[in-house]
Amino acid sequence: MLDTLAVSDRALTAHELLDRMREAGLGKEPPIVYRALDFLMAQGLVHRVERLSAYVACASVATCRQPSAFLICCDCRRVTEVPIDLAASHLDAAARGAGFTVGHVFVEVEGRCETCRPTPAGWEEAGPTRHGDASHE
Ligand SMILES: [Zn+2]
Ligand SMILES: [Zn+2]
Repeated sequence: MLDTLAVSDRALTAHELLDRMREAGLGKEPPIVYRALDFLMAQGLVHRVERLSAYVACASVATCRQPSAFLICCDCRRVTEVPIDLAASHLDAAARGAGFTVGHVFVEVEGRCETCRPTPAGWEEAGPTRHGDASHE
């Protein structure tokens, strides 16, 4: 199952995971899939992305003790895990100011990935252009 998540560059819901495992001929039953997910999450190998109700394989298990941010593409649902510096984010200080002790931090950021992001201004896309059409007729 971890392999299934690891080869996917986007988050998979438990249902999608189940489908893929069926396709692979593993014929897993839902309770087994959920139990396996719980186990993998407890091991830190898999993270749950609440925004998508889906799961991603950890990008870097060895260094994943730091809080991470999940960059979620609104278009293709690709999820990128990046480490965040809690001290530099001011969140820690702000929380302490409120008398709150920070435990686990999960940051989910919505946006667009490199593939889906809109064309930057001033960058002409290859293809037919409408303006300055001197050769037309
Ligand atoms: Zn991780
Ligand atoms: Zn995308």
